[in-house]
Amino acid sequence: MKPATFEYRKATTVADVVQWLKDAPDGKVIAGGQSLVPLMNFRLARPSVLIDINGIRALHHVEYDGSTLDLGALIHHQEIADHPEIQKKFPVLTVAARHIGHWAIRNRGTLGGSLAHADPASEWPAAMVALQAEIDVQGSPGVHRVPASEFFLGYYTTVLEPDEMIVGARVPATGASRIGFAEVARRTGDFALAGAFVEDCLDGTGFVTWFGVSDKPQRIAVALPPARETSWREALEQLTLNDVAEDKIALAIEIAERALKHSALVGAAYFGAHAIRGRD
Ligand SMILES: Cc1cc2nc3c(=O)[nH]c(=O)nc-3n(C[C@H](O)[C@H](O)[C@H](O)COP(=O)(O)OP(=O)(O)OC[C@H]3O[C@@H](n4cnc5c(N)ncnc54)[C@H](O)[C@@H]3O)c2cc1C
Repeated sequence: MKPATFEYRKATTVADVVQWLKDAPDGKVIAGGQSLVPLMNFRLARPSVLIDINGIRALHHVEYDGSTLDLGALIHHQEIADHPEIQKKFPVLTVAARHIGHWAIRNRGTLGGSLAHADPASEWPAAMVALQAEIDVQGSPGVHRVPASEFFLGYYTTVLEPDEMIVGARVPATGASRIGFAEVARRTGDFALAGAFVEDCLDGTGFVTWFGVSDKPQRIAVALPPARETSWREALEQLTLNDVAEDKIALAIEIAERALKHSALVGAAYFGAHAIRGRD
């Protein structure tokens, strides 16, 4: 299939994008095109105007000031995977990035595109919720920050208004907690059947954020008893998983337990190529 006809505009400033989206509410921003172009080819999306944001240099940055990681919307998945400071300070993002699609997709697809697309099986929406990030949104009145926990409304739906765009995300440093990640997919490069980010606060409490098992990522508190690894599964089984699809509950628990094991490996400085097998 070929897309329906559209007008192409190349933006060099965010202000242009916001104005053009205001002028054409059925217009669409294009970043990496890895999700939008297939939708357009199948004519499931038919924007009258396609606004290419790849020329907005200000959206292409990674900065870490010791307490917050500031990611521009145009950062590609592979750039997150390869960034040395992210590997050091936010290793869980490195591992998660490596699980997104294939090389070609990771080299073109962007953080902002993934967050705006809000596929419930995607890694970045869950990562942002798990790490309590804020998403920077720009519209006519200016930039406002939305906690990731309030940004995703359901399947492919966010709080973004038609004349707003994502300009970046701000991820706070994780302090003393150990963060782990695991996912399972049918084949390398596929979206996850189920995945989880977990936070072990090392004080008997923790949080699990699943993806691929419900309509949106949610950060759920879990008691992690001091006996640790031996009782993790028991603790996870006690959670009430109302939003998790019935046929995925067992898988969700298994994957969260693997993510907890990964968090222990990260904590023991074992992180790297040996991080838990994601696809099996
Ligand atoms: C075969 C295949 C496998 C994949 N596997 C995975 C996977 O395992 N995990 C995963 O997470 N993803 C996967 N993806 C999706 C990929 O990660 C996309 O890159 C991502 O979902 C969208 O990013 P993009 O930059 O390509 O956005 P685009 O396709 O350009 O845009 C997607 C949507 O976001 C909007 N948008 C883009 N940027 C912005 C912005 N800054 N502000 C507001 N709206 C914006 C667009 O208007 C559009 O609605 C896969 C894709 C393919 C084709």
